[in-house]
Amino acid sequence: MCGITGYIGYREAYPIIINGLKRLEYRGYDSAGVMLYDGKEIQLSKTKGKVSDLEEITNKEPERKKGNIGIGHTRWATHGVPNNVNSHPHISKSGNLVIVHNGIIENYDTLRKELISRGYTFKSDTDSEVLINLIEEVKTQENCKLGQAVQLALNNVIGAYSITVFDKTKPNELVVARLGSPIAIGVGENNKEFFIASDASPFIEYTKDAIYLEDEELAIIKIDKGIKVRKIKDDSMVDTHIQKLKLSLDQIEKGGYDHFMLKEIHEQPKAIIDTYRGRMLPNEGIIRMSGIDNHINKFLNAERIIIVACGTSWHAGLVGEYLIEDKARIPVEVEYASEFRYRNPIITSKDVVIAISQSGETADTLAAIKLAKSKGAFVFGICNVVGSSIARETHAGAYTHAGPEIGVASTKAFTTQITVLALISLKLASKKGEISKSELRTFMQEMQLIPKKIESLLKVDNKVKEIAAVYKEATNCLYLGRGFNFPVALEGALKLKEISYIHAEGYPAAEMKHGPIALIDENMPIFVIATRKGHYEKVVSNIQEIKSRSGKIIAIVTEGDTQVKEIADHVIEIPETVEALTPLLTTIPFQLLSYHIAVMLDKNVDQPRNLAKSVTVE
Ligand code: GLU
Repeated sequence: MCGITGYIGYREAYPIIINGLKRLEYRGYDSAGVMLYDGKEIQLSKTKGKVSDLEEITNKEPERKKGNIGIGHTRWATHGVPNNVNSHPHISKSGNLVIVHNGIIENYDTLRKELISRGYTFKSDTDSEVLINLIEEVKTQENCKLGQAVQLALNNVIGAYSITVFDKTKPNELVVARLGSPIAIGVGENNKEFFIASDASPFIEYTKDAIYLEDEELAIIKIDKGIKVRKIKDDSMVDTHIQKLKLSLDQIEKGGYDHFMLKEIHEQPKAIIDTYRGRMLPNEGIIRMSGIDNHINKFLNAERIIIVACGTSWHAGLVGEYLIEDKARIPVEVEYASEFRYRNPIITSKDVVIAISQSGETADTLAAIKLAKSKGAFVFGICNVVGSSIARETHAGAYTHAGPEIGVASTKAFTTQITVLALISLKLASKKGEISKSELRTFMQEMQLIPKKIESLLKVDNKVKEIAAVYKEATNCLYLGRGFNFPVALEGALKLKEISYIHAEGYPAAEMKHGPIALIDENMPIFVIATRKGHYEKVVSNIQEIKSRSGKIIAIVTEGDTQVKEIADHVIEIPETVEALTPLLTTIPFQLLSYHIAVMLDKNVDQPRNLAKSVTVE
């Protein structure tokens, strides 16, 4: 996820692009860059860091700011660490074509090798530089116009993108295309100027008329001639639909949602797709994860895997333990990084340590990594932020590719970490011969259905809101789950504590009898996960025990459930899936519930008191 801006018209493009990039920094700020064309030369300025760092460079050399056409980018790295060279815009070998790209080109490595064999060289590690050179190669081979070259090139690309491309030899046009990542075109009066941006916030003060490109559409924007939109696949023309913008700036940045947390909850289907993108090949029965493939013997010879993490990542780690032990049959221990680092743990070179952290900067997790390395363990990182300290400190790793998470209460980081852990468990299971090809295929197919299932589950929002209204005054809550859903109970309780400041505890459902049951009375809401294949009968007995003590029961059940429905006070249904993947679904109503309670209690959802997004102190 990154922010793209562009302008073509009669005004100075620079201020529009730079101010626009500042508004898009919520989408990432690993680096910033701008390309302007002053009628003669391309001026390319880019740097690691924020848009303000870019301004420091351009302010020193005002000629870098000249031109009525330009494109800009604020990056959230997916391929290649955040540095000056990997910053966008990227320029083609001839120096004529320039691109800004948001997304991931899955087959970039194959394309890159092909292009190298045809004499291309690459300065950066990005997939985006591969794409601009592919476009150049197609343009040269086919001797065609830019729009057609972009279209043909994109037909050879697997992945997700929104792009804007400029051609110095045809400097009165910009080509824009989209698949999976958003892009909007602002239309100025009488087609005299056009604005391009990842959302409408960069051009809201210039025009209220916007075209949102749909997936697989390509737009050719020419001064005075206007916009032509085509389908990338079959070249058919698309009737463009101009929308009148009504949202405020703040609402646009939050994608129309009231808070980043809610936006991020809703982003989970896309984030999960981005996490498994290019890693699952169900038809071939293969899982591709280079971080594991390149060190497979370390994993296969491991006597045990130790997962270290903090907070929500620790909960994801617990799901990982259940997954890896169940599927790959390798012993797993899950440790709080803060305890692990100080308790003189026994670690040997036969251990594999998996460290999980959204930001990749969590101080305790970093210290745990250093300790494990010093004792000879192989350390694998799972984090969201490319080039972060954990990504650099570990021997290998896998990114979650969830896009920036801004809400302090983690949501999409949790589900994408579980997605990576599920892939790891399957990968190891298949390498160890613990899972048949057909089982593996079925599991991957189930995984591919999860995003759609989350989408349908998000529609329970109104029901969750009603439940939130009933229990918002509670002072204590209990969350119960078993098996794969025990960690979800912990995470549900944590979410409620974090943003609504209501005391809540998560427990394995059967543990209730060993203490917490004493707390239950008619004022105590108890959230229970009772999925069909998750020790259902046992959980039903636990629910009966609560009922006999007059506790209020809010149950998450599988679609079509009848038994729990009869006993529980409220029931939320989740779509059916394999039990090991249910945490990806059962967690959604809990996220929504905490969100709505916090809003109803007028709490600061995105920045709860005393908390910070990335905990860089011990
Ligand atoms: N894949 C591109 C990169 O790593 C674009 C990332 C993005 O969408 O932010 O540079």
